[in-house]
Amino acid sequence: GEPVGPGRGATGTAAAAAPPMVLCEDVHKWFGHAHVLKGISLEVRQGEVVVIMGPSGSGKSTFIRTINALEPIQRGRIVVDGIELGPDLHRIEAVRREVGMVFQQFNLFPHLTALQNVTLGPVWVRKWPRRRAEELALELLARVGLEEHAHKYPAQLSGGQQQRVAIARALAMQPKVMLFDEPTSALDPEMIKEVLDVMRELAASGMTMLVVTHEVGFAREVADRIVFIDQGMLLEEAPPDRFFREPAHERARRFLSQIL
Ligand code: ADP
Ligand code: MG
Repeated sequence: GEPVGPGRGATGTAAAAAPPMVLCEDVHKWFGHAHVLKGISLEVRQGEVVVIMGPSGSGKSTFIRTINALEPIQRGRIVVDGIELGPDLHRIEAVRREVGMVFQQFNLFPHLTALQNVTLGPVWVRKWPRRRAEELALELLARVGLEEHAHKYPAQLSGGQQQRVAIARALAMQPKVMLFDEPTSALDPEMIKEVLDVMRELAASGMTMLVVTHEVGFAREVADRIVFIDQGMLLEEAPPDRFFREPAHERARRFLSQIL
């Protein structure tokens, strides 16, 4: 059976009945002796946007990286679209094909053009013919507003443009879930909006998203739920209006007083 919690986050009966797209149950992670994730449980339904907030060093990156097995866990379970992560490499690969990830540092290949960066996954992982992969890549570059920059190299693009290429690259794998780890933290202020706008559009298109960000405006507007993590624990989970108006937890209040 599905040992899911009592409809956490679910708003309607139909939604509550559908299996979650991402299920994390009592997730623990140690780096050596450091216990950095202390029993995190979270369910994300299809199409939901969950924003993760919390102080630096609280485990947000580590947690989000466990969802595509970039970090192995030592206790608990993670199930993505019905596939349970474990030591089985086939399942890890299967989950990674369904989960796109965008990092703070864009991690584009510097010697490849935007178009080549975006076609890489479909050609090498999905074994698509190059022509088909390029058609999709051009479509995605247009979607993120970069069709005219398809043949430029990362060094010829601004930070905001590079991050939009990184988003297109992740989307080229046609993921069911997108993970974002502080995607605008390395950007100059004037470039933050162009990246958040692409993420807004993606959310509106129905993508299931987990986003670590301190962008309160984005979180208020786009998130279905805010999850607050502190010292490796999920302390609070609430709709944005409630979280920003009256966080239940003292540590969440203190955190908000620092970023608002
Ligand atoms: P956040 O993203 O919330 O800033 P992190 O997930 O990056 O937090 O880090 C959580 C804790 O785990 C921190 O104490 C950090 O120093 C530690 N940590 C993160 N990555 C590693 C690693 N590869 N090896 C050892 N410790 C790590
Ligand atoms: Mg981090």
